Amino acid sequence: MPDNRVVQGRMVTSKKLAELVEGDSVMEAEPIADADRQCPDCGGDVLEVVYMPSVTELVTGHKCQDCDWAEDDRD
Ligand SMILES: [Zn+2]
Repeated sequence: MPDNRVVQGRMVTSKKLAELVEGDSVMEAEPIADADRQCPDCGGDVLEVVYMPSVTELVTGHKCQDCDWAEDDRD
């Protein structure tokens, strides 16, 4: 399970991570990457995942590994 990471104490796949960012189910997600940044809320490590919430949309999401902070790149 090379693509699994621990987020807030739980093992998640890239798809599950994308769903945490999106707050909904997603169609597909690319492998999890380390974002070169820290969480603005707690200073924890931030993960990055590119995912498709629908066939026409590609979103880059970020999620803190230690707290609830998450964001996507929609305007
Ligand atoms: Zn955090």
